[in-house]
Amino acid sequence: MGKIPEFYVDADLCTECGDCMTAIPEAFRKVAGEELAEVYNTNLDESYLPKVEKIMADCPASAILWKK
Ligand code: SF4
Repeated sequence: MGKIPEFYVDADLCTECGDCMTAIPEAFRKVAGEELAEVYNTNLDESYLPKVEKIMADCPASAILWKK
């Protein structure tokens, strides 16, 4: 099975709501010592694509983006 494209959290947009870490803890975590989210793992197979697309759409700050 293939891998999904890389994605990241724009730290200037993230409002620290925590939704992405709840939705996909395999990919998102808190930056050490902060509430801000970061992507620590994008090595995810294609079965994760719907979940990633959903949290991108659901993120209240639209802060989860594909890497260009
Ligand atoms: S869902 Fe969006 S705003 Fe909420 S913690 Fe994740 S990146 Fe930040």
